[in-house]
Amino acid sequence: MIVLHDAEAIRAGIQAVARRIRERFEGTELTVLAILRGGIVFAADLIRALELPVRLDTIGVSSYRGDTTDPGAIQISSSPSLDVKSKAVLIVDDILDTGRTLSRIRADVAARGASQIATAVLLDKPARRAVPIEADFVVFTVPDVWVVGYGLDHDEKYRNLPYIAALPAPSG
Ligand code: 5GP
Ligand code: MG
Repeated sequence: MIVLHDAEAIRAGIQAVARRIRERFEGTELTVLAILRGGIVFAADLIRALELPVRLDTIGVSSYRGDTTDPGAIQISSSPSLDVKSKAVLIVDDILDTGRTLSRIRADVAARGASQIATAVLLDKPARRAVPIEADFVVFTVPDVWVVGYGLDHDEKYRNLPYIAALPAPSG
């Protein structure tokens, strides 16, 4: 495993992004929608750095990924609880990869009548984008490698690592 970003770099990166989000939403109540499960570690740290009035909600997504390289269809496995009609919503995920997850959830939040929608991701992997979407707030950009830690898993392992690491590419 190769460490890409250690705990201290992540802390500083999240603080910097939180400052930009705070400037953008000054005086606005923000509904933070964390994407389960990988997004919760980043979301937990981000909301404590925001210094804004925040409501916290979650949405569960299954992507039917057969292996670490093939994305499948997006399915909502658990719906958000809070009403976002006329609310400012910040969608938070661990990584923006093909873009399918974030664009699907963004459309979902728009359909629920949010007045403003912004997106924040811990990691951006632009090499594999299949849907034209960029996140408004990105902590780190990563190359086309399989990353784990800080919410990101490999077969449900490693989500609790306090750093972000790259795994060797899967064979076959
Ligand atoms: P997208 O829909 O943008 O292709 O993928 C988003 C989801 O795919 C992320 O929320 C994450 O669960 C998963 N994903 C994409 N790339 C990686 C990666 O390098 N490592 C891990 N652990 N998950 C990834
Ligand atoms: Mg995910």
